[in-house]
This record gives sequence, C-alpha cells and structure tokens, in this order.
Amino acid sequence: MAKLFIVPTPIGNLDDITLRAVDVLREVDFILAEDTRTTSFLLRHLGIEKRLQSHHKFNEHATVRLVADTIAAGRSAALVSDAGTPGISDPGFLLVRTCVEQGIEVETLPGATAAIPALVQSGFPCDRFCFEGFLPQKKGRAKQLQSLVDEERTMIFYESPYRVVKCLEQFCEVFGPERRVSVSRELTKKFEQTVRGTLAEVLEHFRATEPKGEFVIVLAGRPKSGRRGGEPAPEND
Ligand code: SAM
Repeated sequence: MAKLFIVPTPIGNLDDITLRAVDVLREVDFILAEDTRTTSFLLRHLGIEKRLQSHHKFNEHATVRLVADTIAAGRSAALVSDAGTPGISDPGFLLVRTCVEQGIEVETLPGATAAIPALVQSGFPCDRFCFEGFLPQKKGRAKQLQSLVDEERTMIFYESPYRVVKCLEQFCEVFGPERRVSVSRELTKKFEQTVRGTLAEVLEHFRATEPKGEFVIVLAGRPKSGRRGGEPAPEND
C-alpha cells in the first residue's frame, strides 16, 4: 500500500543517514523536498535518481491536499527537509496531519535531529525535557520566555548565530545569570563544539568569540530548592 514516509537526513555529517532511509529514498515513487537543490546534492552523494517535488513552508498549504490525494491514489512519497527530521522546526506537521485525517498510512523513520544530541551532550537531566524550537523573533518572545520561568525540565532551543548573544542576554535577565546552560554548535561537523557553564559565563564566551554556524541552546530547568540547575534528582526524589 502506498504511504507517506518521513525521512530524516543528516544535520552535517553525510554519514548520518540510516540504511533504511537510503532504501526508502530509493524505493518511493517521488520525494517531497524542502529545497530541491539541497536534496539533489544528498541524492547524488547516495547515488539515487528520483523525481523531486518542492514542499516547503511557502507552498505546503496550497499543495498538501494534492500530495495526499496522489499518495491515496497509490503513489508512495518520502518527505525530507534540508537537515534533520521533517516536522521538527521544519515542514512536516501539516502533511502528516492531512494524511492521518485521510486515513493514509504514515511511517516516520528515526534518525538525525539536532535537539537530541545537544540535550544528551549537555549533561543535564534528559529523563524529562521540553523542546521549545525557535522562540518568536519579536512579538510574543518575552511572553513565551516568561512562561518558562518556573519550568523544571531541561529546555531545548534552536537559535540563529546572529541572535545567540542577544538570546543569552535575555536568558540571563529572565532565568538569572547563575542558571546553567549548554550551547552546542555545528553538531556532527568538523568544528563541533559544546560550551557549558552558567548563563553569565557562556554569554561572556560568546561575547568574546563571535558565534558561527548552527546552534542549539540547552537550558537547565529551574533548580528545586537546595540543588543547582541541571543537577539530576536523587533516585527517590
Ligand atoms: N529539522 C531539524 C532537526 O531535526 O533538528 C531542524 C531544522 S531548523 C530549520 C534548523 C536549526 O536546527 C538550526 O538553526 C539550529 O538551531 C539547529 N541545527 C540544525 N543542524 C544543526 C547542527 N549541525 N548543529 C547545531 N544545531 C543545528
């Protein structure tokens, strides 16, 4: 039966694609790509020739029904984004929801995403966490940050390099300069780096060293009384 496959692609290191993802990309009738040039590059690297159809945030509302109808009519599709897992701060949700509503089978492959390695790498508790993705750039940003003031779970944010310093400054104001943070940049790439410390320390670091590349900011949850933010709870807590 034709279905929609959600296929994660590498976030930097081209080896980070699963054998099953490669099989699916080879087998489907067509691939929906956020940027057809980026995906063409990956497919060339994998030795796959396949029809690509553009599917991004500017056209997905207009094309989602047609895509779902095409799959329902018996043609299997794979959705990929430029990097990582579609649907995670990337197009995907709308198409998956439409397919689910129309009774079209959806199969999501596990694979690369920036949030999870950054979280595990942080050294903060990862038994419970919340993914905040990109904060709104202007309107609603302060309100969203305020809503997280009492959050006890580890929080994960995506941020552009141009706003990392501003973002850490805002975090200092909202969460206090002593809250612990872990900033991972260029995950899986040659210049991968993780900087950990208090918000004040990490802000100082990125004021002195211009932020370059792609960033994930992992913020420790609000410390429970008597503990440092980012410290794991005792077994019987
Ligand atoms: N779908 C992707 C995923 O599964 O992680 C996220 C796509 S979102 C448009 C791009 C953002 O993800 C970047 O701005 C950055 O915050 C984060 N990101 C992607 N690749 C990264 C990498 N190699 N290192 C650090 N952050 C990365």
